[in-house]
Amino acid sequence: MQNKLGRFSRFDLNATSTPLEPLPRLSRQIGGPRLFVKRDDCTGLAFGGNKARKLEFLIGDARMKGADTLITVGGLQSNHARQTAAAAAKAGMACELIAVDLVDRKTSVYRESGNMLLNRLFGARVELVGNTGNLSELLQQREAYVIGNGQRPYLLPLGGSTPIGALGYVNCAAELLNQISLQGIALDAIICATGAAGTQAGLIAGLIACGSTIPVIGMSVYTADAQALKETIHTLGQEALTLLGIYERITDESIMVETGYIGEGYGVPTREGWAAIRRLAETEGLLLDPVYTGKAFAGLLAQIEAGRFSEKANILFLHTGGTPALYAYQDDLNEILNRPAFPETLFFERLE
Ligand SMILES: *Cc1c(COP(=O)(O)O)cnc(C)c1O
Repeated sequence: MQNKLGRFSRFDLNATSTPLEPLPRLSRQIGGPRLFVKRDDCTGLAFGGNKARKLEFLIGDARMKGADTLITVGGLQSNHARQTAAAAAKAGMACELIAVDLVDRKTSVYRESGNMLLNRLFGARVELVGNTGNLSELLQQREAYVIGNGQRPYLLPLGGSTPIGALGYVNCAAELLNQISLQGIALDAIICATGAAGTQAGLIAGLIACGSTIPVIGMSVYTADAQALKETIHTLGQEALTLLGIYERITDESIMVETGYIGEGYGVPTREGWAAIRRLAETEGLLLDPVYTGKAFAGLLAQIEAGRFSEKANILFLHTGGTPALYAYQDDLNEILNRPAFPETLFFERLE
């Protein structure tokens, strides 16, 4: 796999070789399966997260094409925007962010703290826009403006989820297979939060490329349309394989998504998500976030509760990052923390 990936230009963001650790206290509390976490919240760029792996390939491509400016789009608290701004700084490129008001939250911390604060710190130019226009049109308008300025832009769509970006997760799949083999773990499933889908698509492609059949279950946090999401994952994964010169077909059965844990919508925290965040913090000292990983972990706990996995199974949660958003949602979090903690045996009841 490394020689196939080695053909692509890459800009080093210290995004690889993240730890894989067990969650022993939580696993004991729930009485199995055994849970593990792949710590992509610890990629080595600007508070971590999954976008750094994609950006290594995306910036490699941008530099090869002679670009000097990255343009991307996301919500106000987009982790992708923050990591792109940091990566642009490290690569000596300019960065233009289109921050779309996707989530109906008017608090000043939401609009100014968390990722939004960091974007400005990295020197990105942030343009705030309402939630009306079409995202690719917004990108194109920005592109025209930047070209008019004499700059050479490179466009990254939502989440950096292109086939080239997905190569970062092809690489992650290979890294993970190597780690579990060294640690002697027979994995039964991988769970991740899925948004624009480059992460799940890249993982699936990478597992296929390495001959592994470990299933990947994506917990959707962005769309409730399971069919459309599966098609996006399929297309992105297949295109990533094609880039690598691998012509194996991704089967429909290998694309698994759950859309029942989004709650009211993207960026709107759920009670179950907050409960998962609090529980992981209290039992493992591990931080999750309210937009992606908290909801995805809540989905995992619900699937465990529903009996999807055997008690003996080994389940890996891919931690995709997002923790700076905790500060943007601190009002909600404070309210949650003001409620009494319950004994863990009442954990599922306490969601009622
Ligand atoms: C962007 C993001 C995701 C989703 O990744 P996709 O490749 O867009 O599906 C998951 N978790 C976090 C924390 C993210 O920032």
